[in-house]
Amino acid sequence: MDQPLIAVTTSVAVGRGPERAMVNASYLTALGAAGGVPLLIPPQLSPGALEQLLEAVDGLLLTGGGDVSPALYGESPDPTLVGVSEARDAVEIACVRFAMDRDLPILALCRGMQVLNVALGGTLVQDIHSAMPDALAHAAGEARDEPVHAVHVDPASGLARLLGATDIDVNSRHHQAIGTPGEGLVVAGCAPDGVIEALEMPGRAAFLAAVEWHPEDMTPHADHARRLFSAFVAAARG
Ligand code: MN
Repeated sequence: MDQPLIAVTTSVAVGRGPERAMVNASYLTALGAAGGVPLLIPPQLSPGALEQLLEAVDGLLLTGGGDVSPALYGESPDPTLVGVSEARDAVEIACVRFAMDRDLPILALCRGMQVLNVALGGTLVQDIHSAMPDALAHAAGEARDEPVHAVHVDPASGLARLLGATDIDVNSRHHQAIGTPGEGLVVAGCAPDGVIEALEMPGRAAFLAAVEWHPEDMTPHADHARRLFSAFVAAARG
């Protein structure tokens, strides 16, 4: 049986020595367990090479990582910004445009949801705790799979159907959040403090799910996390 090929975006690590493209293995493990085959997208691709690569895939997985450049949504940088890569931003925004044009299934996780939102004209909260001093801890958890806070999913949303649940506990490793949703996106779930934790696009025929948590680290023991990856891969198999 043919398994769908999924474009998986990668992080840029800048430090001593050469810049590196890298990805946490948990994305690849969770995708593989759901039956998807990853094709890694390095941020250093030329636009032509990127387009050729995307022509081959059946779906787009936007992974977590550093902050999106606030210049892309018309703001000046907050001092808390971390890990901004203009190269990664550019490649991922091009991936979103391609996937929207071709109706490719999209699964967007953490930074992935944020860059999707910015690509569609939305804004971000640059630092949750500066903007909302009473917010819950969203960059927390000893272990990567540790539940940190609750999320209430809108029972009328497509996401509630996909997850098979409306009230779940999730891990949380973000200091930024969605501000204004981008064009066509609607809020599908929030944390108890009001931080937006999930977006979807009701008018879109193809699969699109975006969450602020990290289901890739929760698939070993959380049914809702496995269901999210399974639904995405099933849509890509189409
Ligand atoms: Mn959170």
